[in-house]
Amino acid sequence: MKILPSLNIQILLFATLGVFFGWLAHGGDHPTALYSANLLGTLFVDLLKMILVPLVFCSIVVGIANLRQHQQMHEVWRYTLLFFICSMLVAIVIGLTASNLFKPGTGLPLAMFEGAMQQFESKSLSLPEFFASFLHSLFVNPFKALAEGNILAVVVFALFSGIALVMGGAAFDGLRTLFEQGLALCMRLVGWVMRLAPLGVGALLFKLVAQQDLAMLGVLAKFAGVVVGSTLVHGVMVLPLLLWLFTRHGPLWFWRGARESLVTAFATSSSSATLPVTLRCATQHLHVKPEVAGFVIPLGATINMDGTALYEAAAALFIAQLVGVDLNIGQQLVVCLTAMIAAMGAPGIPSAGMVTMVMVLQSVGLPAEAIAILLPIDRLLDTLRTTVNVEGDLVGSLVVQRLLQGKA
Ligand code: ASP
Repeated sequence: MKILPSLNIQILLFATLGVFFGWLAHGGDHPTALYSANLLGTLFVDLLKMILVPLVFCSIVVGIANLRQHQQMHEVWRYTLLFFICSMLVAIVIGLTASNLFKPGTGLPLAMFEGAMQQFESKSLSLPEFFASFLHSLFVNPFKALAEGNILAVVVFALFSGIALVMGGAAFDGLRTLFEQGLALCMRLVGWVMRLAPLGVGALLFKLVAQQDLAMLGVLAKFAGVVVGSTLVHGVMVLPLLLWLFTRHGPLWFWRGARESLVTAFATSSSSATLPVTLRCATQHLHVKPEVAGFVIPLGATINMDGTALYEAAAALFIAQLVGVDLNIGQQLVVCLTAMIAAMGAPGIPSAGMVTMVMVLQSVGLPAEAIAILLPIDRLLDTLRTTVNVEGDLVGSLVVQRLLQGKA
């Protein structure tokens, strides 16, 4: 007899409890509760990360091997990149429009933030430097990349290996079977780890809410409101609309299937840590073919970040308004472009977007130290933008699958 409610319900229940008790504990002194929540939450993330690297490697190799067999490799590349770029562009335009309309940075006294800005030391990274270091990070000794969990480099090596495997034909049949079995094994492990998801998600949210600096949130409320509002517009309206236009799937069907990964993304603020869950949702709940999901989802988790792109653009405009600089259309176009590159280059870990934002600010001559102003509320905003990042990957996999069917 089944006594426990479904995993989805358990995750939602514990997430709500985590937020509620975190709110109760906020400002108080609860070292044991915080210690336990931290331990539980980080263990859950550790378990996901433990499976991450072998899973990404096997899923891409197997995905490519199957795609090549169906002669669809070129289309998948093209559709995937086109979808990622278009959806990130739309997200950035929404962020810029909202910031221009609501002007969250006007009226706040800059003097208030000077202390924070002086303490902050930014590492300057110009666009060419960023581009060069991004390129160098793609090609790395695979054993080093695997051991260090450098996902983008693992993705690249897996892409090459997948192609070589197929070109080698029957000679590599044994290896292909090995990777297929490796993938099935990893997915089984993900299933086990997901049983811990309710506790892990609840603990992470408890800790986040209990430790949040609410005073600063009050000061930056208008900016946070603009970011949250426009991220929601993208996640609740634009992405579902794109999904419906391409696939005729409704938002409720999508959210029901994607729930596990969206809640995990919200709680972990990490697209990479969520990747095993995203892959599971895509293949098991949303019925994306493993060869499509195996390619689109891992790539998306590293380069497709709608929420981050939107945030970086909106934050650049906010800081410009704060320091009294009026960015003209040309400069806003530069923000648009650099925000996209910065989002693509940001690894899927908590607050990564914050680091790559230095580049966006510098591209239009804004002080990089100004990101110190956003640091106190960054972890809170990171929850939602990571959720939309992951949602974009799932929608992307469904759209690419549909476009491929249209061609078949
Ligand atoms: N935390 C985000 C992610 O993992 C990246 C960011 O900081 O924007 O997708």
